Amino acid sequence: MEHPGEGIIKPLKTISLFWYRRICEMTLFISLIIVSVFFAGLFMEDRTATLLLVPLPAALIAGVCGIIGLISYLWAPAKYLYQIAFGNYLLLTATVGMLITLTGYLDSPYLVLWMLLTIFAGLFGKLGLSIVFSAVNGLLLYLVLFDNRSLSREFLIVYLLALEMPLVISYLIWNDRDTQEKHKTQAFDALAKQLSQVADKSEIVINAIDEGVMAIDAKGVIQLINPAAQRLIGWTREDALGLDYHSVLKLSDNSGHDLSDGQSPVQQVLISNRSLVNNDLTLTTNSGKHMLVSLVISPVDSGNGTSNGAIVVFRDITAEKQEERQRAEFISTASHEMRTPVAAIEGYLGLALNPNTAVIDEKARAYLMKAHEATQHLGRLFQDLLSVSRAEDGRLIPKPTTVDMTAFMRNVIEGVVLKAQQKGLTIYFKPGSDQQGSRTISPMYYAFVDNGHLREIANNLLDNAIKYTLKGSITVDLKGDEEHVTLSIADTGIGIPPEDVVHLFQKFYRIDNSDTREIGGTGLGLFICRRLAEANNGKVWVESSYGKGSTFFVQLPRVDHDETAEPGAVTSAPS
Ligand code: ADP
Repeated sequence: MEHPGEGIIKPLKTISLFWYRRICEMTLFISLIIVSVFFAGLFMEDRTATLLLVPLPAALIAGVCGIIGLISYLWAPAKYLYQIAFGNYLLLTATVGMLITLTGYLDSPYLVLWMLLTIFAGLFGKLGLSIVFSAVNGLLLYLVLFDNRSLSREFLIVYLLALEMPLVISYLIWNDRDTQEKHKTQAFDALAKQLSQVADKSEIVINAIDEGVMAIDAKGVIQLINPAAQRLIGWTREDALGLDYHSVLKLSDNSGHDLSDGQSPVQQVLISNRSLVNNDLTLTTNSGKHMLVSLVISPVDSGNGTSNGAIVVFRDITAEKQEERQRAEFISTASHEMRTPVAAIEGYLGLALNPNTAVIDEKARAYLMKAHEATQHLGRLFQDLLSVSRAEDGRLIPKPTTVDMTAFMRNVIEGVVLKAQQKGLTIYFKPGSDQQGSRTISPMYYAFVDNGHLREIANNLLDNAIKYTLKGSITVDLKGDEEHVTLSIADTGIGIPPEDVVHLFQKFYRIDNSDTREIGGTGLGLFICRRLAEANNGKVWVESSYGKGSTFFVQLPRVDHDETAEPGAVTSAPS
């Protein structure tokens, strides 16, 4: 079988498998003719009378050529194609030449075989052509000088047609091919050089990257590891290459448990063919040292939706996390410490504003009202900062209990209803009610959640709904399926532009437009809601229509009332 691309890219002094096979066939064919004629001659009565006389040595050599042709046709030795084909070709050419000299030179019927052979001479390049050319012209000289042949017209025609023309044809055919081959070979060399330069450059880049880089194939075997990765995990390239990644990239979770195969982010990328980022895992080095790592794992797409492997880029973030923790601690302590004097100021301002405890004129009242509002805002800001730092430094550990959501939300709403009324807003709460005849049945919704966290989420969302609604109403509802309870808080407020929705739950994100500019806030409330919901195995999201209103959803794990261990364990009021 011919290899794809065979004969397109190959160095000189070689021969493609295709042409090698054709040479073998031609050799076999000519050898068979010679050997057959030899055997036919054995049965003739007057053997000397025939023009086709084949002597035994010629038949033997032709036989050998035929056998070599057959064997090498069947088992082509990749390394020596050119040498074998050329050797066999020369041997057979010499045999046919010998037959021609024995059977009347230019009158010999073997000239036909000679012509056939000569056409292939160019396949062996200049060497092949010049050998045959020397033989042909040597014969001409011999015939003219020693055999006293006259250069008659017939002689010259036969000579030119049978001996010179095939050589010219051969030259034309193969020289053209040879030039093409040379061009292709040059193109091949240039391409190979370019590829190797690109490979060198990639290697330089990968080696220079200060982050650990590992390439893992679809079977999980490490195929590449850069110096930074070797330094970080303490494995040498020689030791790590070819090993299963589990033994080199030892990952464990926050609580120090080794990750199972299903939890391994590399395995997840190999299966899902999707990139993954993880900043919460610990890596154990070869010497047993633990470090917190940031991992970015990208699949090597095979093109048909499956993964051919994965590229793991990782770095040590132990120091970063440490700094983050210190920063969060500082913010937390500062907020905590400042909350007390702010609360005191707020209290005294309240006393000053109370006509039962202080007498002030109207001007002073107006100033103190403003100061009171600003202090309240400051108090909320400190509270938010405290919650953010708790969420960020891992101190946000929920203590979930079974919460009767209907009673709980009724309680939370009672706390904000005054504020809503002051703005002329109505709050509706008819959780998932189901009208059956004259009776309204409200299903029971129990969520498994930390009630302090739930209070903060619900208060934040209700505060926002009131804050960002100028007129209309707020509707609180509860829905549920087998596994979840979903709280929704819908308002008829200013709504959220679609381009802001994706960023809404990020830290310090505030929508800055003419609708919100006058409304104060920190941009932390929704971020806190998201972190609290996630910590309780839930999630928050929003659906909004700009200018018409927004609905915020909070989904939490649902439990059956029966699942509550102790009858008194259900929480119905915010703590
Ligand atoms: P803030 O303290 O600014 O209210 P949040 O994180 O609670 O911070 O909200 C982030 C931004 O989302 C707000 O600045 C506001 O623009 C927008 N937003 C939040 N809730 C609503 C809502 N119910 N209606 C319209 N916009 C809202």
